[in-house]
Amino acid sequence: MEVKSDDGLFQDAIGRLDAASAYAKIDQEALERLKYPKAILQVSIPLRMDDGSLKMLTGYRVRHDDARGPTKGGIRYHPDVTLAEVKALAFWMTCKCAVVGIPFGGAKGGIKVHPKELTPLELERLSRGYIRRVADFIGPETDIPAPDVYTNAMVMGWMMDEYSKIQRQHCPAVITGKPIPLGGSEGREDATGRGAYYCIKELEKIRQLKPEKTRIAIQGFGNAGRHAARLLHQDGYKIVAVSDSKGGIYNPDGFDVPSLIHFKNKTREVKAVYCKGTVCEIVEADAITNEELLELNVDILIPAALENQVTEHNAPKIKAPVIVEIANGPTTPEADEILTSSGALIVPDILANAGGVTVSYFEWVQNKSGLYWPELEVQDRLKQIIAREFNALYGMSSEKDISMRTAAYAQALSRIGRAIEAKGTQTYYTNHK
Ligand code: GLU
Repeated sequence: MEVKSDDGLFQDAIGRLDAASAYAKIDQEALERLKYPKAILQVSIPLRMDDGSLKMLTGYRVRHDDARGPTKGGIRYHPDVTLAEVKALAFWMTCKCAVVGIPFGGAKGGIKVHPKELTPLELERLSRGYIRRVADFIGPETDIPAPDVYTNAMVMGWMMDEYSKIQRQHCPAVITGKPIPLGGSEGREDATGRGAYYCIKELEKIRQLKPEKTRIAIQGFGNAGRHAARLLHQDGYKIVAVSDSKGGIYNPDGFDVPSLIHFKNKTREVKAVYCKGTVCEIVEADAITNEELLELNVDILIPAALENQVTEHNAPKIKAPVIVEIANGPTTPEADEILTSSGALIVPDILANAGGVTVSYFEWVQNKSGLYWPELEVQDRLKQIIAREFNALYGMSSEKDISMRTAAYAQALSRIGRAIEAKGTQTYYTNHK
């Protein structure tokens, strides 16, 4: 990852606002408000290790803006977590929720930790410890966390349980992405990958893509990347390259994705395999680095790992005409400009990965109503939202000759602007003296 100074990632993130505001209906005052997170909490979490020693870890929760509803966003566990990163991620959540029109603002949390070095018991103690520190800052009507990089349903379950103990009542709506028996929603597990898949299905209609002739490279084989790969492969798309944090594999003829997933689940490794039942055989493939994966000659590139992967240094070498951003913030502003002016279509993160938070919203609604929906209903509602917004943004970008990213920010700004203005801005007060 490219190292940016201090607040760099957040400044880059909000830097998108001014350009997009030219295409949005938003009061200057409302625009200014979005450049400042509403509240930031930094905590120190004492973690008792299995060997009896004590480790102090740093965690964050940032609530960016709640004009449109309670704030919403995941919690990531990663050794590179910084406050600037969490602020940027919270800002993207505000925009993402507005882009898909769900009634939430944006937030994000993180703990600077290497989760793969912890035992399951240490992970549980850490997750519960984090909630004890942030319990007054979150809540079903104020700020609702969810999974993100290296956190999962189990972690959400522990967190919900800890919060419920503190409140002395069952509080499933405080967190989403929970295990289904603890109030999780059907269809939440694959929702992020599925949202990106629905974007590609809409593009398939517009550009008359032929799945069997469309080669796709996916950087990152975590929850979102894996499910996107599975759904696209099911429809006949050729997944020719995948990678995880250790490196990737490439085969121009395409991989048998269910085999890759089976092997990754079992061994945590991305390897070129073909499995029959539980028996896997190594198949031919080239070992490639994460950097090489981005530069492959493919039709669709899906960055599904971390931010700042596509930079001004590698953007000129990227050959894919379509980039679907499943990761949050994978493309730097400089790279975005290079790629957009060379004619690439970028389906921006705040739309392409919004499936996760959309189904999180459904989970929250189900928790609050106590009525649970079948998986097909969840998928159908998700599809309607993603297809509607994809087509609106694609249309706006062609009509106004702007990138889909600028269109997405303009859409988000108009929606957030309306909520802020409804409470009154200078324009209102000076006109109603
Ligand atoms: N972490 C996911 C994201 O970045 C999901 C957030 C949520 O469900 O609240 O969109």
